[in-house]
Amino acid sequence: MRLLAAQDRLAAFRGGFPAVPLSARRIAGLLDAPGCVRRQVVDAACVPIDDLAALVGCPPAGQSPFALARARQFERLVTDNDMGPLLRLVRELLGLPVTAAREKDLSASQVSMQFRRSDTAFRAELTRRYVREMLDGDDRAVNLLRSPILELAIGGVPMPVEPDAVAYAATGPLHPVEIRSFPCVDGFAEPGQVSAAARQTAVQVLATRELVVRLGHDPQRVSTHGLLVLPENFSLNATGEILDVAPQARRLRRYLDDFPRLDALARHVPEGVELPHPRQPGTGEPSREAAAQAADALAVLPSRFTDGCVGCPLFAFCRAEANAVGSVARLGSLAANVCGDVSTVEQALALAHGERTPVTAAESAVAAELGRAATALALATR
Ligand code: SF4
Repeated sequence: MRLLAAQDRLAAFRGGFPAVPLSARRIAGLLDAPGCVRRQVVDAACVPIDDLAALVGCPPAGQSPFALARARQFERLVTDNDMGPLLRLVRELLGLPVTAAREKDLSASQVSMQFRRSDTAFRAELTRRYVREMLDGDDRAVNLLRSPILELAIGGVPMPVEPDAVAYAATGPLHPVEIRSFPCVDGFAEPGQVSAAARQTAVQVLATRELVVRLGHDPQRVSTHGLLVLPENFSLNATGEILDVAPQARRLRRYLDDFPRLDALARHVPEGVELPHPRQPGTGEPSREAAAQAADALAVLPSRFTDGCVGCPLFAFCRAEANAVGSVARLGSLAANVCGDVSTVEQALALAHGERTPVTAAESAVAAELGRAATALALATR
């Protein structure tokens, strides 16, 4: 299948859903679910995955309304007063001699207010313009850019990427800045949250480097040293730490290099299989028929249910599917790896207890392995 035909097939699969730019959070999440064609197709088709997950009955993921309100309040405090709190951290921790913030907010709402249009292509064009000025060393250039639209080649095709809340502080190299609302207590922030922030920063670094190369500059103009801004202790005062996301950027680069090409992914989508319009005309509510159509469309895509799926918005849907067929994947990735080609718990137990004759060499190996485990368990519990 040629690339254009593949893009058409994926656009047809998207059905009534609008195409959305991929967030850095979403691309970073791909690292937890390698090799799942279902997730790869949904991402490559730029389907709004949270809306799709809600339509097929998955509970909303992400932060509570309280946490979201707190995050917005903290971001406002950090960026208030001509970005005073942020500039202090940029100077102290990144060592940049920035005395004033020349900020540009390229979020859809701000761009729409200023230009009366806010489509993704236009915001990407504005991003290119401001990053070019930053790289050219123009003294009057913006030095803090928020909510830009970048592009990252995924499956051989540039995909729009919208970082959640990002700024680039520029004087010399460009440094990514992330503002998060989880606390840094006595100098320590929760490692899981810091690691998630680092992976998302790595997405921004790679996407910005691709832009920098397209603008004719050295990709090293984008530093892997980012500034993570957090609330200090239990207050809303800003503190920060430097993150070196070079390892995360290397891992993500390898993952993206191995990502299937779009034409290979599109072949997994049978002709005529498409997602519904998520809302009924008139009521604006999702319908039962739409939910069923979306579930059927997802079900035809091969999935790979693993321990990493817990962070995927479609987790509840895929877990219910794995339960329904008695998949060994429900026992965890370790058990699924031991079982190899044997896909259901029922088959695995039958092989372990010698009640089923292995029909392939792989099944024989699994039967021997599980048989040994069953014997050891029997001895241990005697
Ligand atoms: S939850 Fe489902 S769609 Fe998401 S990565 Fe896992 S198997 Fe794939």
